[in-house]
Amino acid sequence: MIAHVSSWVLPVSGPPIRDGAVVVQGDRIAAVGPAAEVLTGFTGLICEHGGGAILPGVVNCHVHLEFSGLAGKVPPQARWEDWLEATLTAYGALSPEEIEAGIAQAMEALWQSGAVLAGEVTNTGASWPHLESGPLSYHLFYECLGFDLLKKFNLPELFPWFGRPEVAGTAWVSAAAHAPYSVSAALFRAIAEWNAARSGLQMVHLAESQAEIDFLAGGNGFFEGLLQRRGRWVPDYQAPRLSPPAYLHRLGFLGPRTLTVHGTQLTASDCDLLAETKTWLVLCPRANRFTGAGAPPVPDLLQAGVNLALGTDSLAGNWDLNLFGEMLWLYQNFPACPGSLWLRQGTLNGARALGRDREFGSLTPGKKAALGFIPLGGSRDFWGELFTAGAAGKWRWLELADVPGN
Ligand SMILES: [Zn+2]
Repeated sequence: MIAHVSSWVLPVSGPPIRDGAVVVQGDRIAAVGPAAEVLTGFTGLICEHGGGAILPGVVNCHVHLEFSGLAGKVPPQARWEDWLEATLTAYGALSPEEIEAGIAQAMEALWQSGAVLAGEVTNTGASWPHLESGPLSYHLFYECLGFDLLKKFNLPELFPWFGRPEVAGTAWVSAAAHAPYSVSAALFRAIAEWNAARSGLQMVHLAESQAEIDFLAGGNGFFEGLLQRRGRWVPDYQAPRLSPPAYLHRLGFLGPRTLTVHGTQLTASDCDLLAETKTWLVLCPRANRFTGAGAPPVPDLLQAGVNLALGTDSLAGNWDLNLFGEMLWLYQNFPACPGSLWLRQGTLNGARALGRDREFGSLTPGKKAALGFIPLGGSRDFWGELFTAGAAGKWRWLELADVPGN
């Protein structure tokens, strides 16, 4: 048994504890509380970490490790459409070796910045062996595209990856829909059907650009041109004339096991629909700034009571994969909200969104001992100092060797 002691313990499941302690037994948390109480009669090893905070590993609900080789190759854009075009071009120029090296480096960076669990979106399956052999726990979303797939089908018929025995037999794998402008209604249904027979978790990029809103409303514009250039356009396509969430709701794709991502163009009534259906929205606010997608409508989302978690998206569309950067951005841009809200979204909410909150997301007895320490100097702006230090890479794992992967 080891007791980790510091000036602050942030359980997330409860308020911050001044002069707190976390007792770890094996790979599990045994006790959390004020050090004066927890250490009474304690006979194990005591690790005194000094000024700073002990907190749970963070949960990055949305990454694309396979785009990590694009780090520094796609500059930030003012228009999202320009970012998408630049990313597609740059990705096409990456060699398999660059993709592999990018995955390995990004996984290491995720771990070093305090991520214990990630929602990884793959287009090829290339990141899976890295995740299997690395320390991160994960849920793997294999992303499907197919605007021109119009007839009803079972997913493995057109996406053979899902027919592999190791895929069909793994609980940590789901099918994901890329976005409403790149996935047909038949493909949305095939994805939902495949997921429903397993964990039920699914993911889709949603309401990320004005072009997406226009496209679903019938003003084809940018996406008609893009789909034509990629040979995927459907000449007699009939737009649903609905907002992106209303369209997905009609397809039966929303619900408590669905993670929608971005949501920068959501209206207040869209937010109500996500809240009513208990659909998750993963905020990636720095990525949205990088790609020119705008900013998520945080006041409307909080007002509606939408389930929120955090992600960084990829290194093609963000400066780094450090989730404390997202928390810091939200803390600085929404000063009326308490800092504890963003830490909860980046830990416990993320674990709930990925269905792993029995193991991760808070310092709670019985959960995995996936905890770290961030040194703090005692600023009066506690949350600002915490997120700034985390974003600067000050995270240090405690009990590193005892934190198992999947
Ligand atoms: Zn994404």
